[in-house]
Amino acid sequence: MSASAPFDLSPPSPLQFDQLAATLTSDERDVLLDHGTESPFCGVLLTEKRAGVYCCRLCGLPLFLAGNKFDSRTGWPSFTTPFDERHLSYVRDTSYGMVRTEIRCARCGSHQGHVFDDGPPPTHQRYCINSVSLEFVAETDALPDKLGRGAPEGAPWHLATA
Ligand SMILES: [Zn+2]
Repeated sequence: MSASAPFDLSPPSPLQFDQLAATLTSDERDVLLDHGTESPFCGVLLTEKRAGVYCCRLCGLPLFLAGNKFDSRTGWPSFTTPFDERHLSYVRDTSYGMVRTEIRCARCGSHQGHVFDDGPPPTHQRYCINSVSLEFVAETDALPDKLGRGAPEGAPWHLATA
């Protein structure tokens, strides 16, 4: 829905990255920077049902729309499709003896989770994301602008994608 959304996808400067990383909790650092996985059913976003958008916890880039969230019963927030394909990067992950597709924020490179092809129709994709990797922004609130990029960041997301 946001194919023309003019988000600036150039990466944060090393200084910006370090400053943002310094604001993370140890749990957030474990997942976002060290590619860990939070325990299932612990994430505060699991029961979040309001309209809005889920943004990268580190750099604030919108990654998933609330309308594409579904209850996968896995214990992690799950989505059928990304906010914009260009906002995610996909990396082959062969850790733990499995072949999976890791998802990272395309802008800052932080680890988000994995995508599987056992989701519901019509996409049959299941984007399985760590709660701590995301920051929920309600429909009526302004998008974060952690990198000082200006609009559409810093503006309410429904205006940004109109
Ligand atoms: Zn990011």
